[in-house]
Amino acid sequence: MVQEARTLDTDILILGAGGAGLFAALHAHKASPDLSITVAVKGLLGKCGCTRMVQGGYNVALANEDSVERHFMDTIEGGKWLPDQELAWKLVVLAIERIKELENELGCFFDRNPDGTVHQKAFAGQTFDRTVHKGDLTGIEIMNRLAEQVWARNIDRLEECRAVELIRGKEGISGVLFIDMRTGEYVFVRAKAVLLATGGGPTMYKYHTPSGDKSCDGLAMALRAGLPLRDMEMVQFHPTGLLAGTHTRMTGTVLEEGLRGAGGHLLNGAKERFMPRYDPLAERATRDFVSRAMFLELQKSPSPHGGLYISMAHLGPEKVAREFKGMVERCADCGFDLAGGLVEVVPTAHYMMGGVEFAADCSTALAGLFVAGEDSGGVHGANRLGGNGVANSTVFGAVAGDTMAAWVRDQGFREPERGAIEAAIAQCERPFGNSKRIDVEDLRERLYETMWQKVGIVRDAASLESALVDLRGIEAELAAGALADRQRAFNLTWHDWLNLVSLTQVSKVIATAALARRDSRGAHYRSDFPDAGSLEQSAYSSFKDGVLAMKPVVFSRVKPGQSLLKNAA
Ligand SMILES: Cc1cc2nc3c(=O)[nH]c(=O)nc-3n(C[C@H](O)[C@H](O)[C@H](O)COP(=O)(O)OP(=O)(O)OC[C@H]3O[C@@H](n4cnc5c(N)ncnc54)[C@H](O)[C@@H]3O)c2cc1C
Repeated sequence: MVQEARTLDTDILILGAGGAGLFAALHAHKASPDLSITVAVKGLLGKCGCTRMVQGGYNVALANEDSVERHFMDTIEGGKWLPDQELAWKLVVLAIERIKELENELGCFFDRNPDGTVHQKAFAGQTFDRTVHKGDLTGIEIMNRLAEQVWARNIDRLEECRAVELIRGKEGISGVLFIDMRTGEYVFVRAKAVLLATGGGPTMYKYHTPSGDKSCDGLAMALRAGLPLRDMEMVQFHPTGLLAGTHTRMTGTVLEEGLRGAGGHLLNGAKERFMPRYDPLAERATRDFVSRAMFLELQKSPSPHGGLYISMAHLGPEKVAREFKGMVERCADCGFDLAGGLVEVVPTAHYMMGGVEFAADCSTALAGLFVAGEDSGGVHGANRLGGNGVANSTVFGAVAGDTMAAWVRDQGFREPERGAIEAAIAQCERPFGNSKRIDVEDLRERLYETMWQKVGIVRDAASLESALVDLRGIEAELAAGALADRQRAFNLTWHDWLNLVSLTQVSKVIATAALARRDSRGAHYRSDFPDAGSLEQSAYSSFKDGVLAMKPVVFSRVKPGQSLLKNAA
């Protein structure tokens, strides 16, 4: 049976309802209230994505003793000189505007000091305590207020609507094809401008932190549309993911950095402390160092579930229970005593620094397509500072909203390229036309293992080449495979199949970029090329149409060895 798509029109179409998507909607509406704006989201607006999961907080230079130059230098040095300096500059400057808008216009309450100033806490890799927060539920505060504001305006919503393909028109984007997950119907939304804000998310790894609705769909669609992706080898691992066995989705979720900051010890399977052997800062070293040491140690001496332990008891169980109430309760739910005993942990894939290449106004190489948030690449370089993620999505979401509102004024709708919608539907329909049954869960486990073992925290040429062979095999099985359940309405196995198609395509780019980068920087560590290489000759990876190129970083504001702080003084 030939499937057809119902068609809708909107001036601005936003894919994703995290910090980036909702800020874009609010800013576009504020700039031009007469425009029709539609937010389309795979989950429920306000309830999905990772902005809601933000615990730690939001980096912004607010204090008199701090400065945007200092925040900028921390971001560049943290990113090992790979960030695009113009994007990083925009991030640190506009974060100040956005945090004020969040508090003064959108209704967020952040924690305050006794003198009434906003409280800012310490985060790793920063030379100043600049992380604004609401206890450890910062993301819930931001998302609840943003969602309320969107609901209060004339902004349309398509919930549980999954974007599956960017549809090109003549000289630009025509719109996006969706599956309405509730009915299984195809919907084509024609738009003058489209924002890609589906939040990246490295959920192709066995252990990962992001929400389950994220499967790199935005990056995979961008790839298929021929857009360049940069820095894809840069996947950040958080050292302490909870390891509670395979029966629970709690495995992989984050136990916050503050545990190590407060003096927590990491122990190997023999219950011996090992971090001092790897780094003078021991457990307080940055995420990449600690994750790497843990990965090496768990090969030698693993805990029962194949990880390591975190131990807090030496700090005093009562103190730990008081200061880390939420973490202690979460661990207790999984049968662990964080305050007085040992909790099994494992490094867990947390964030993708890489994404779609974009200009400082959020435009991309495809006219009418814009990008913001974790789908974009270039702001963080080789490593994202904790607290710069939500700043990135809100800052560039707002920029995208402003840009799109101005851009659509003199644009008409573009007709879709002939046959493009039908071809995209045919791709989605493949598992209903094939005859050879596949086990989607088995393929997912194979993807998880390949990415974790061969494209994970420590890589080398042999592991990456072997991973590419595995990934091509998984891709071929997905393409030829059939699903047992043939209904379209709310068929979660079908959506798992679609998730795996996106994840496998993006995993191949990660492995290809990791193979091409023959040095070790930030989140990317090659055991066969352990040196960082020349900072002055820094190059970033750019993948387009199956070809990977290394391109020189432009030091537009500051060169390695210099500091903007000294220059500014
Ligand atoms: C556990 C955790 C803790 C974190 N803590 C911090 C922190 O303390 N500080 C910090 O700065 N950063 C933190 N981060 C990172 C931060 O959450 C993200 O960088 C940021 O929120 C991403 O925002 P976004 O708008 O790009 O994506 P998200 O907020 O993830 O939103 C993506 C949206 O896209 C939708 N979507 C996905 N696929 C599709 C599709 N095919 N069609 C339609 N919609 C789709 C999703 O449903 C979702 O609505 C944390 C991340 C995690 C996972």
